[in-house]
Amino acid sequence: KRQEKNIRQILLERLPKDIVSLLQLAGQTGQELDVAVYAVGGFVRDMLLGIPNDDIDLVVEGDGIAFAQNLGRKLGARVRPHLKFRTAVLILPGGQKIDVATARLEYYEYPAALPIVELSSLKMDLYRRDFSINTLAIHLCPPHFGRLVDFFGGQQDIKDGVIRVLHSLSFVEDPTRIIRAIRFEQRFQFKIGGQTERLIKNAVRLNIFQKLSGARIRHELRLLAEDSAPLDAFIRMRDLGLLQEIHPLLHFPQTKEALLEEIERVITWYKLLFREEAPDIWIVYFLGLVSGFDTHQVQALTSRLRFPPKRIELVESTRRQLRYVAMQLAQWGKNGGSAADLYDILSPLSLEGLLYTMAKQRKLELKKAVSHYLTHLQDVGILVTGSDIKKMGLEPGPRFANILRAVKRAVLNGEVRTREDQLKYARRMAASLQGQEPKAVS
Ligand code: ATP
Repeated sequence: KRQEKNIRQILLERLPKDIVSLLQLAGQTGQELDVAVYAVGGFVRDMLLGIPNDDIDLVVEGDGIAFAQNLGRKLGARVRPHLKFRTAVLILPGGQKIDVATARLEYYEYPAALPIVELSSLKMDLYRRDFSINTLAIHLCPPHFGRLVDFFGGQQDIKDGVIRVLHSLSFVEDPTRIIRAIRFEQRFQFKIGGQTERLIKNAVRLNIFQKLSGARIRHELRLLAEDSAPLDAFIRMRDLGLLQEIHPLLHFPQTKEALLEEIERVITWYKLLFREEAPDIWIVYFLGLVSGFDTHQVQALTSRLRFPPKRIELVESTRRQLRYVAMQLAQWGKNGGSAADLYDILSPLSLEGLLYTMAKQRKLELKKAVSHYLTHLQDVGILVTGSDIKKMGLEPGPRFANILRAVKRAVLNGEVRTREDQLKYARRMAASLQGQEPKAVS
């Protein structure tokens, strides 16, 4: 039964002011156009959970595109309409996005036996969604602003921490929801409900993943890897028999869990650095999942999961490098090599390969070496340029590169620091290569 309650106060207290203003403006716009407007889905769920979420999803009972264009004018936003689905995306000047969907009854197929009076277009829109916790809506139009609409018991499930589908064919309709269920379960530390879990097991028995495209599965696995607690999520998938359903080779044995756990730790560490370059986290986990596999096995998986050519290349080239890098790294540790040597060993690796290598090292000092490379060595630049060296009287050629490389090694090893020192170092190199006194540098 439809439950309603006013959460205006919670909304005003919990949401940032600019978001509240946006919602109010959306509501007023709806009133002007005589259509009902609701905030729905993950945004409402997260507000009730007290989790910040800037992704606003709106549902309009009426023409969503006309509404979006009107609201977009008021906000000075770009509007990208999608005529086929009657949706639109607003892109605000600050970069924030608002998704607008149209809820229109005639677009849904519903069983003829359903009593029509019971239907509202909002309800039909929400009924197509994955889990009850994602079906809450907040009315935004002025007299009703802040009224929470709960058709499917979403509030109670948020309170109880339960992931529950809306009907028994949900997973057959869209098997990716199974992976989503596990993702939400781990993210919120919720529990998949008993009946919902039975439906998952049933779906597995019906082999529903076999008909699902590799690209869609990969997309969901990727989201899983990027969300919180991916290892627990992968374990949950394995224990429900899902990974082996996608491909028998994905079923990782318990002995691989330590490596995956280490990957999780390294990724968490890397995220805390707030580095600009973001790794493809899924690829790092994938490297872990396929560790010890031969090339054919890896190819079987990348083809089942429809990896794009560039990702296949990344996986294959990284795997080709890994063994050699590991060997060199061990040697480097044994011989007490320099920072510049470390740089030479690690710089050919992709960021994903570096993170994987860091996770894979058993020896703490080698782990630390990789982390030192990532935090301190990777971006080291030099203050001497080719034109500086030209002024030293050298003709451009391979020797140029050698000198610049030597300066870089000296900088990496902390032997020279300032531009002056670097120039002096370069001059000395140039002189020894030329066998003559360097010219003065202005
Ligand atoms: P996140 O915080 O991960 O973005 P979200 O709930 O906002 O979580 P989205 O993937 O952005 O999730 O999806 C937006 C809404 O669309 C969700 O609230 C969900 O109800 C619905 N949805 C997404 N994917 C599906 C699906 N496969 N089946 C049904 N509904 C879906």
